[in-house]
Amino acid sequence: MTITGKAAVLVDDFKFEIREYPAPPVEDDGILVKVSACGLCGSDLHVWRGEIKAHNYILGHELTGRVHSMGKKVKTDSHGNSLKEGDRVIFTYFTPCHRCYHCTRGEFTNCLYNFQGMKSVKEYPYAHGGYAEYYYIKPGTFVFKVETKLSDEALTPINCAAGTVMEGIERAQLRPGDAVVVQGAGGLGLYAVAAARERGAGLIISIDGQAPRLELAKKVGADYTININDLPNAEDRIARVKELVGYRTGADAVVEVVGYPAVIPEGLEMLRPGGRYIEIGCIFKGSFVNVDFNRILHGIKYIVPVSYYSPWLLPAAVRMLERGSPLANLGSHTFSLDNINEAFKKSEWKDTKTEVLRSIVKP
Ligand SMILES: [Zn+2]
Ligand SMILES: [Zn+2]
Repeated sequence: MTITGKAAVLVDDFKFEIREYPAPPVEDDGILVKVSACGLCGSDLHVWRGEIKAHNYILGHELTGRVHSMGKKVKTDSHGNSLKEGDRVIFTYFTPCHRCYHCTRGEFTNCLYNFQGMKSVKEYPYAHGGYAEYYYIKPGTFVFKVETKLSDEALTPINCAAGTVMEGIERAQLRPGDAVVVQGAGGLGLYAVAAARERGAGLIISIDGQAPRLELAKKVGADYTININDLPNAEDRIARVKELVGYRTGADAVVEVVGYPAVIPEGLEMLRPGGRYIEIGCIFKGSFVNVDFNRILHGIKYIVPVSYYSPWLLPAAVRMLERGSPLANLGSHTFSLDNINEAFKKSEWKDTKTEVLRSIVKP
């Protein structure tokens, strides 16, 4: 019997439509998930605004769910834990092909064929997005069973926000005692603060324009915050960072999770010579910025670009949350799938103020 499920399809900029689709047939190595919750990520907002065109797509990639049905070859998760229908799972939102040059080198994040989402609903296997009742985990995807007291809401950002910033911290080889600046205190920014703290950072500075977010940044581990409304000039913010990091001469690492390239030159100037700029936010095309590479060369600064993450970081993120992080309660607003248009309107922060920290859509 074919089952059908509701899905929110982005039919135009700023507009979702709820439609009913048959769930795809499950391949021998595939898993069909009944979605429990799907978070609203900053990148979803970029798409919703039309900054990335994705009409006729089901959005949503920060999701978790329960195994609804699985192919006959699936017996375990990616760690070898037995898997059965009804188990709670988290999974990478990308599926490496395991057959390209990059995959043979273990560089799954560079696989060119790997993104599960951002495809039209007309393309197999149709269930590409988390704003839906069903989501199809393609063969080759990394899946982890979770047995935890954490809520579904807490698990949703793990396969995007948490995984990505943890990858950044990992790639930048942060050392105990390092000074870290995080530009942006939205979902990614808060996770970046927590991940830097987890990694043993000695000093963490969070920068944002919204006071409630900065308060939260302090709760999850920031030692200092800079509200850009108090210091509207970039030069003053750079000077403040240099003052706060003291003997270090600049930050050891700066994480960019604002999502707009205008903040990059400022972030680079906050670094010490030899410091690392972890670039995560500028996910859309046309992110141009004017940077004098002479400033990079002198006092060599490293740019560490991050998209996607290593699969092993997902269970690590679960354990980080289980240790009592306030991030486990980051989801501030919950919406039903039918109210997804409202969820996006309420979550919009560009050129406006929002009380929403993280919206969760529950089908
Ligand atoms: Zn995301
Ligand atoms: Zn590949």
